Amino acid sequence: MPRPPSAPPQVGFVSLGCPKALVDSEQILTRLRSEGYHTAASYDDADLVIVNTCGFIEAAVTESLDAIGEAMADNGRVIVTGCLGVKADLIRARYPKVLAVTGPHDEPAVMAAVHAHLPKPHDPFVDLVPPQGIKLTPRHYAYLKISEGCHHNCRFCIIPSLRGTLVSRPLGDIVAEAERLVEAGVKELLIVSQDTSAYGVDQKHRVGFAGGRPVKMSFPGLVHELARLGVWVRLHYVYPYKSVEEILPLLDIDGVLPYLDVPFQHAHPRVLTAMRRPAGRAHPSACVKAWRAARPDLVLRSTVIVGFPGETEAEFETLLAFIEDAGIDRLGAFAYSAVEGAAANALPNPVPEDIKHARLERLMAHQAALSAERLKTRIGQTCRVLIDERTEDGLIGRSYAEAPEIDGVIRVTAGDAPPGDFVDCRIVATGTHDLTAIMAPTFDTRTTGSV
Ligand code: SF4
Repeated sequence: MPRPPSAPPQVGFVSLGCPKALVDSEQILTRLRSEGYHTAASYDDADLVIVNTCGFIEAAVTESLDAIGEAMADNGRVIVTGCLGVKADLIRARYPKVLAVTGPHDEPAVMAAVHAHLPKPHDPFVDLVPPQGIKLTPRHYAYLKISEGCHHNCRFCIIPSLRGTLVSRPLGDIVAEAERLVEAGVKELLIVSQDTSAYGVDQKHRVGFAGGRPVKMSFPGLVHELARLGVWVRLHYVYPYKSVEEILPLLDIDGVLPYLDVPFQHAHPRVLTAMRRPAGRAHPSACVKAWRAARPDLVLRSTVIVGFPGETEAEFETLLAFIEDAGIDRLGAFAYSAVEGAAANALPNPVPEDIKHARLERLMAHQAALSAERLKTRIGQTCRVLIDERTEDGLIGRSYAEAPEIDGVIRVTAGDAPPGDFVDCRIVATGTHDLTAIMAPTFDTRTTGSV
């Protein structure tokens, strides 16, 4: 049915990639809504479609090109943004009729393209925009980006050339956004960036202001401010610098959680050096040992790459041993794949594909067995669970030991509560990555909670 001329313009949105890209999508959607555009539910309903792409690895490039192709086929009026947008020639060679192509984190350029192809409505209802902006996550958790870009040069990565060097957001802006989110009902903030513990390095750790208080723009300074919010705060993309030791005493199972997502990527010193990893000289095993001595309740998530050029069997086995000795609780792993423009492409001794994939399978099987063993130790424990969803089979939630979307979940089979509520649960069974629980009488997590 044709839309009446007075109907608001409709923009379709496809958001691909990592949580940093998701935050970019949320910012564009917030701006669109504030100008009176509506979000279309289908390609048919959309006056044009924005595709926010990812270009991190070849698989992401393929997925992004396929998404653009689908939007072109089903709608035909497409604006491309995001990391793959820096390769405008590649996109235009495949899809010459796209309306515009912009790079990542470039909301002004996206909005200029939208205005050029779909004029903004005369009388935008700015009050339709909630103060916390448009969020693509459930109401009770949200990603909070603390910086843009990256000042490192890991050999396998092209993010710095896609997103530029590190630019930390002003501390006051971060805290103000966090407070708006909490006021809007967010119970868990997921801190994201390319390197969270490098916060403020580009600002030479100058003094910033949060709520009128002078605070050093540093990782510990930021964590100190986030600890005041009274909600769960989960730190992602933390690198093993000395400053991590400073924040350990600030962690709390009702505040900045004793959960760190540390992308070690490998554990062998030669491979870490060859990768040009930040903090490459900090031996992962020694770091984890020191952290666990200070915080026995610390839960660690990591990501690793197997089959980096030159990786020997012995070096791979160092990685396997590290995963076990360090007791990495949650793990994401990838087989190394060449990314166009990455310095690692020029390294000698590429690992043959079959060996890379065999190593990946071995690693994941090893981790699955370790995970199942570690989770079994939680049977009988009580923990605070944030409910994510109600299903026909019961509730699905997470304790401080599980991040949304990337870790396992806790299935609560007895008891009821709406999404966004905290409930106290007793773990009654465990699997490889997930746990099963029943609701327990209320208890004080400060004295009895653990995982
Ligand atoms: S730290 Fe390394 S892997 Fe991470 S974004 Fe920067 S260059 Fe890429």
